[in-house]
Amino acid sequence: MADQFKGVINQLNKTAAIMKIEHDELEILRKPDRIIEVSLPVLMDDGHIKVFTGYRVQYNNIRGPYKGGIRYHPKVNLDEVKTLAFWMTIKCAVADIPYGGGKGGVSVDVKKLSSGELERLTRAYTRGFADFIGPTKDVPAPDVYTNPQIMAWLMDEYSHIKGENTPAVVTGKPVEIGGSLGRGTATSLGGFYVFEEVLAKMKMPKKKISLAVQGFGNVGMNFAVIAYAAGYKIVAVSDSSGAIYDKNGLNIDKVLSHKQATGSVINFIGAKNITNEQLLELPVDVVVPAALENVITEKNAGRVKAKVIFEMGNGPTTAEAEVKLNKKGVLIVPDVLANSGGVIVSYFEWVQNLRHFYWDQAKVESHLKRQIINAFDKVWQTMESQGNREMRTAAYIVAVERLVKALKVRGI
Ligand code: NAD
Repeated sequence: MADQFKGVINQLNKTAAIMKIEHDELEILRKPDRIIEVSLPVLMDDGHIKVFTGYRVQYNNIRGPYKGGIRYHPKVNLDEVKTLAFWMTIKCAVADIPYGGGKGGVSVDVKKLSSGELERLTRAYTRGFADFIGPTKDVPAPDVYTNPQIMAWLMDEYSHIKGENTPAVVTGKPVEIGGSLGRGTATSLGGFYVFEEVLAKMKMPKKKISLAVQGFGNVGMNFAVIAYAAGYKIVAVSDSSGAIYDKNGLNIDKVLSHKQATGSVINFIGAKNITNEQLLELPVDVVVPAALENVITEKNAGRVKAKVIFEMGNGPTTAEAEVKLNKKGVLIVPDVLANSGGVIVSYFEWVQNLRHFYWDQAKVESHLKRQIINAFDKVWQTMESQGNREMRTAAYIVAVERLVKALKVRGI
């Protein structure tokens, strides 16, 4: 979608109007601090050179170093990276961690690359951005189709360039080289903590509710696994090949084995194959979009039957859809809160790297729980004080208030 960034600025303007904040303060949040685009020449296995385009958008660092993932996807473009970088700025402020916001990406179909090509691309990306990233400047992390191995290559290349071991340049690393215990499941576990708080507020009993989860990657799969283990009924899951549905509930452990064996969730015995679009319109209580942006739009919002949309992926609901859903009384738990567990534990990883002192998993998870529930409480109270059910606006109010305060005390 070409004008995604315009949409997020509209959301910012709406928030500012409610908060009655000054034009100049808002102006700084309307534009990224820096946009960097780099050509990345990569030696392909067939002996040819292919030049990819890499992006890094450093949106705002008023509260701390820029922070945000790197996405490898064919649809990556500057508008999307700017939007994601803006959301990171808001997310880190909602979570109240000492980071600003940034994001990176390469337009590439990783499924068409060999492991060697993927490594050379990642090392090229690191060399291209080495002057701009760093533990106190800008700290990348995984996002769609990037993983701990890719973060390890980035850390290794950067350490070679700087001539010193620098684990804190990136988070989401394997634990063997300074990754944090619990980082792999942090986004989903953090989301799950918020999910249970939301259900309690909505008085929706665990035994009576059903969920549909879109996306079966790091975030969607781990969310489904955690919720299933906790006793929730998940009737549908999906990946890029399609969705599966069983109204009596799926055995997520078996779906996971099936995905590992076949490469996809589809054709799971006992379940019906449906489309990703149909999954969003199922008669369930909660829809959990955990894949890509703009899947709930003006077109299908009217057909969404869920009472809660729990945004584990970034930007699944368009602004137009949100207006319709708000009118229908659907509660949208926004991405900037729901999936902030990942960046919260990234922060813990960075702290551990800088201190050279490592935590056990129980400590990581208890700190995550406290941090994300504090964020939830603040957003929920703000929403109630506004007298509506617009949780995204409440989250933006919390974030913008913190950003503007930091801006004021630092001076421009
Ligand atoms: P991932 O690459 O591990 O998984 C992506 C999943 O989406 C895969 O299952 C893929 O099959 C599926 N998918 C791709 N195209 C699809 C389509 N058209 N329809 C349905 N499913 C499709 O990525 P991830 O890390 O799980 O990220 C998912 C979302 O969560 C993204 O929006 C990302 O920005 C967000 N997020 C991730 C993290 C993190 O820690 N990884 C943190 C915060 C937010």
